[in-house]
Amino acid sequence: MNLTLTETQTLVQKTAREFAQKVIAPEAARLDAESRFPREILKGLADLGLMAVNVPEDLGGSGAGALSYALAMEEVAAACASTAVTMAVTNMVGEIIAHFGTPAQREFHCPRLADGTYAAGSFALSEAGAGSDPGGMSTTATLLESGEGYVLRGDKQWITSGAHAGVFIVWARTGNRETHAGTRGISCFLLDGGTPGLTIGKAEDKLGLRASNTVPLVFDDIQLPKTALLGELNGGFKIAMMALDGGRVGISAQAVGIARAALAESVQYARDRKQFGKAIGEFQGIQWKLADMSTKLEASRLLCHRAAALKEAKKPFSREASMAKVFASEAAVEICNEAVQIHGGYGYTRDFAAERHLRDVRASTIYEGTSEIQRIVIARSQLA
Ligand SMILES: Cc1cc2nc3c(=O)[nH]c(=O)nc-3n(C[C@H](O)[C@H](O)[C@H](O)COP(=O)(O)OP(=O)(O)OC[C@H]3O[C@@H](n4cnc5c(N)ncnc54)[C@H](O)[C@@H]3O)c2cc1C
Repeated sequence: MNLTLTETQTLVQKTAREFAQKVIAPEAARLDAESRFPREILKGLADLGLMAVNVPEDLGGSGAGALSYALAMEEVAAACASTAVTMAVTNMVGEIIAHFGTPAQREFHCPRLADGTYAAGSFALSEAGAGSDPGGMSTTATLLESGEGYVLRGDKQWITSGAHAGVFIVWARTGNRETHAGTRGISCFLLDGGTPGLTIGKAEDKLGLRASNTVPLVFDDIQLPKTALLGELNGGFKIAMMALDGGRVGISAQAVGIARAALAESVQYARDRKQFGKAIGEFQGIQWKLADMSTKLEASRLLCHRAAALKEAKKPFSREASMAKVFASEAAVEICNEAVQIHGGYGYTRDFAAERHLRDVRASTIYEGTSEIQRIVIARSQLA
């Protein structure tokens, strides 16, 4: 197995690392404390091609591939997890439109997502009553009698960057409930930010990722033209599942980045902090923690890169993406928890980043499919 990065991958990693460490990391604590959306930073990422890493170059993206995207995501997440999740969803939206869009949809939206004209893109699948089971959604898009468009009605929950998005990918029920029940009657639409009838609700007051924006949406009889349909009528669920496979690779990379930062800070603290006349890193109890943390981190990164490499090679990667997501996110929660422990009482304060990492990383076992859902995907592939 070749683990050497290509020239492009090395360049993307270096570019992301330099920007993340110089520009993003110094701002992360303040963004978190003020719950401030990182608009200027996102524009900086767009200028470097990092808001559309795996979108083809002729659509304004970097065309650098799925592994480059994972590498960039790790670097940004190591600096600021809130910025990273915003970047992740925007990259995912760009990839979906590039893959499933008509030429007009691709040429209109992809360059705007890539160059920062849109502060972000949003992925609107979940609803208050339909999270792990999006097939239970109740938002509808009803064909007008004229046949010239749809009326979008309903609401969505948990939409990342919803208050700032230039474009939303919205899933809605289009099928007849009897002939197209559950996941079979769902379609996918593009909705421009600021469309009349779209109401952005109050931002969630979250445990972590406080500089990311998470809002409910209400669609109040929005008239959509026929050209807003993305992909095939009643074929939207397949698009969501394919997108989430790729998204899970991104979330595993985000978890790796957050955990990497927590580990590096723990190593430094273990060197600096003295008790009983010695650096705490000289105690075996602390050494074993650091050993386990770094082993879990490396294993997470390998699973993430394997799933990304399969995606890039256009091979099946759904099972591997779920394995990377469940392992990396759970390992990262453990690593960040141990980081707080190594920092002792100071780890429980805002004087150190350890507490922010733990708050931020907690969402990674929940969004883009909970750990329980990833295990269902993995088990199904074994039993098939
Ligand atoms: C910060 C944040 C950002 C998000 N961003 C977005 C976004 O941009 N777009 C979007 O569409 N959604 C987004 N989400 C929503 C996220 O994807 C859902 O929260 C997630 O899918 C879980 O859905 P739920 O919260 O309704 O939990 P539920 O589905 O109600 O699950 C509750 C619990 O039951 C478990 N459970 C459910 N079904 C099963 C089962 N069959 N077997 C075993 N256990 C099960 C779950 O694993 C979980 O532990 C975001 C969520 C958060 C927290």
